[in-house]
Amino acid sequence: MSSDLKRSVEFCLKNLKDRGVKRINVVAPSTSSKKTEQAAATKSLIPELDINSNLKQYTDLEDVKKDLGNCERCQLGGMRTNIVFGEGNPKAELMFIGEGPGEDEDKTGRPFVGRAGQLLTKIIEAMGLKREDVYIANIVKCRPPGNRAPVDEEIIKCAPYLMGQISVIKPKIIVTLGSPATCTLFNKKIKISLVRGEFYDWNYGIKLMPTFHPAYLLRNPKDKGLVWEDMKKVMSLLGLKPKHTGE
Ligand code: SF4
Repeated sequence: MSSDLKRSVEFCLKNLKDRGVKRINVVAPSTSSKKTEQAAATKSLIPELDINSNLKQYTDLEDVKKDLGNCERCQLGGMRTNIVFGEGNPKAELMFIGEGPGEDEDKTGRPFVGRAGQLLTKIIEAMGLKREDVYIANIVKCRPPGNRAPVDEEIIKCAPYLMGQISVIKPKIIVTLGSPATCTLFNKKIKISLVRGEFYDWNYGIKLMPTFHPAYLLRNPKDKGLVWEDMKKVMSLLGLKPKHTGE
């Protein structure tokens, strides 16, 4: 492990300890393909947060929202226009998690409504679903300036509310969109290209499927087919039939 990574892990662990976290689990891939074995072998020293016993128990999403309040627990609170809490079916079997709101999301208070969001909507619809059928959220609920990725402190401060949402919704599958969301839910630094396209066992019996972020697909449309392959695996597990074969 590099010294930077070691420092980052130690910082995260100290923060978790300060938050009362007593136990952490190591994530395990639910399949044993060469790709997941490679990812696990190179990165398995960094543990995943155990959200089953360590975080506040919420009764429903309104309870989480109330607890979040007019949050300014991290520096992003002073820069936002709107908190982007997340939206969708509170009993969704499928949840999508991205990294953070962009300009359009900050303006509207809704997740994934810009160009990348429109692509995500197309993907969801191609899966035979509507946005209202799934739940869409982000790792941080306020826009990072210049659309940069959230930094560790912001993720640590905001994660308990995302974990609260997950613990209330209890989806069957979480699709993490891009590296920051995937790293946060694994609680380790990993390359999305190494782990995408495979299911991983996560907390609450939830399966986690990492895939590319729609914003990445806008820049690299040639990889849309890879995401569609990933979504077909998700659909298979949910017993869904596609509307069409994707782009
Ligand atoms: S990003 Fe999350 S923790 Fe930071 S101010 Fe916004 S809601 Fe609060």
